[in-house]
Amino acid sequence: MTTRKPIPAPPYQGGCLCGQLRYTLNARPLALNACHCDQCKISTGSSHIEMLIADAGAFSHTGATHNFIKTAESGRQLDIHRCAHCGTRVFHHNLANKALVFIPIPTLDDASWAIPTSHIWVERAAPGAMLHEDAIKVEGQPADRALLMDAFARLYPE
Ligand SMILES: [Zn+2]
Ligand SMILES: [Zn+2]
Repeated sequence: MTTRKPIPAPPYQGGCLCGQLRYTLNARPLALNACHCDQCKISTGSSHIEMLIADAGAFSHTGATHNFIKTAESGRQLDIHRCAHCGTRVFHHNLANKALVFIPIPTLDDASWAIPTSHIWVERAAPGAMLHEDAIKVEGQPADRALLMDAFARLYPE
């Protein structure tokens, strides 16, 4: 049984390993999604990546970034920003739709409340990855991101 704490009210703050890159998100998340694709594993050096998805208009950051445009397995082009000094991956946008910002959950100053509500590319999940039993599990990339947002809204009703 997954025990989920209530989501604290915004703003949420976070940043990189060295402290040069800091951000503020002044909106409730729209989704908490874990991706198990091979590219996310390589990009983070981890078994998977956990992303907070939110309205990009509520996101701001300070500090220099280095960006890299990655073509995802889904064909989407992602503009990935890392701290220019320490290289921590801190946020990305989808170039085709910049209305959303994607923030790796571990970069939040307090990530204790943020448990994924959806898992994608689950057929690639590493043997040790934890898939929460109340979250939705999707093979590959969902055709419509609304699926991820619906899963979030179901587990965290306002
Ligand atoms: Zn840094
Ligand atoms: Zn991925």
